[in-house]
Amino acid sequence: MTTSHYIAGRWVEGQGGDCISVNDPALGQPFAELMAASAAQVDQAVAAARAALPAWKATSASERAGYLRGFAEQLGQRREALISVQMRNNGKPRHEAEIDLDDAIATFNYYAELAAQLPSKNREVPLAAPGFTARTRLEPVGVVGLIVPWNFPLVTSAWKLAPALAAGCTVVLKPSEVTPLVEQAYGQIADALGLPAGVLNIVNGKAETGAALSNHTGLDKLSFTGSNSVGSQVMRSASAQCRPVTLELGGKSAIVVFDDCDVDQAVEWIVAGITWNAGQMCSATSRLLVQDGIADALLPRLQAALENLRVGNPLTEQVDMGPLTSQAQWLKVASYFATAREEGLQCLAGGRALDRDGWFVSPTLYADVPNDSRLWTEEIFGPVLCARRFATEEQAIAEANDSRFGLVATVCSADLARAERVADALEVGHVWINSVQAVFVETSWGGTKGSGIGRELGPWGLSAYQSVKHVTRCLG
Ligand code: NAD
Repeated sequence: MTTSHYIAGRWVEGQGGDCISVNDPALGQPFAELMAASAAQVDQAVAAARAALPAWKATSASERAGYLRGFAEQLGQRREALISVQMRNNGKPRHEAEIDLDDAIATFNYYAELAAQLPSKNREVPLAAPGFTARTRLEPVGVVGLIVPWNFPLVTSAWKLAPALAAGCTVVLKPSEVTPLVEQAYGQIADALGLPAGVLNIVNGKAETGAALSNHTGLDKLSFTGSNSVGSQVMRSASAQCRPVTLELGGKSAIVVFDDCDVDQAVEWIVAGITWNAGQMCSATSRLLVQDGIADALLPRLQAALENLRVGNPLTEQVDMGPLTSQAQWLKVASYFATAREEGLQCLAGGRALDRDGWFVSPTLYADVPNDSRLWTEEIFGPVLCARRFATEEQAIAEANDSRFGLVATVCSADLARAERVADALEVGHVWINSVQAVFVETSWGGTKGSGIGRELGPWGLSAYQSVKHVTRCLG
């Protein structure tokens, strides 16, 4: 049993009465447990953040930048422990757990730099009208609730914590109940750095704890990353209080492969886009649109590449792909295999759970999937790729855009003018050309349509935690 809630600068035991099992998905067995926070403890965390706000927002931007650099350094000092816990609790292969840690470090360093530049953003605004001056002040939004999922816990939390603290907000973070251990590092780092009590609070728990936070009247904003069904509940509570909300939701993203591509290179991109993190990526490119001229050469090689992936326990084997992170996710992916059989889809690879302990499935490829199939339209969140063929550029754009989601897309073509043209026509928040899943902290992250509201990362990620105030003075 771990003491796992960080409230007002102290570690406390959960009083929620609901026990959370922390599992090793490669074995399908628990290795730790913790008691969820009670609604009263969520209250205490919000109250602590409220009490800490006046002093924290009054700190200088360079002081906050110093703390953020401290977070980056301290994450680096905990490197091996943070990689190990992600391998064990998420089932991530080592190199993916390393990338996550490096991304989190880069995020804190980046927002330290933006925080340091903040004073220059508060500036005089030239007015056409005589007799007045005006100046802009960028102020913190206030007390912010942060609710995150389990697929990239360290990174997703860093994308929220770093800009929120940089802006001068105080926060209450609610990690996922599936992976509640890794983000405890943020509380330990706050302790080590002497971050003022209440600036960062962490409460663990399941849906009830999340709901207690998102319904709380003491917040000024909520930033949520997770599923569309929970996102719409979070949005309802925000609307009940007319409170701003950022939503980073699901996806069903396209990878468009034109017939001028190098086949082997295209296969590498396609495989990475659907098997990294065992396909449990909001940005998984799970809809393959392949041009007629290359499809017959590409699909058999793609099938072989997926079948040759080493799937296993990242802690004991050399693997390309680990297990799914939770039993619930494993059952969900298995239910799509059943649906595919009912729909009579043509399965070229996988399509089944592995016959071993743990929550493993085979990397899966379905070909010529009808565009009204549930597997083509719904987010599966596993290593399940559906392919369709297209003839023309216009057809590829129309098919890619025919989705209620709009998170990301990948375009693969040797004709860069065409690739750029297609990228401009896609209704998504981020497009990769001849690359896959490369997320840089300077660029934005977020979706159009059903994939969410607002942007994280880059200067947009900081703006999400800032409120613009103007001070206009009559010279008269
Ligand atoms: P989820 O929506 O089930 O849970 C997300 C978080 O919300 C968890 O911390 C959970 O405890 C909490 N929660 C659950 N019920 C709640 C309620 N009623 N009120 C408030 N909080 C509640 O999502 P998940 O299964 O953890 O994550 C997978 C989903 O997240 C996928 O749909 C994926 O696409 C999405 N995701 C999106 C992005 C992005 O950047 N767009 C990134 C990662 C994951």
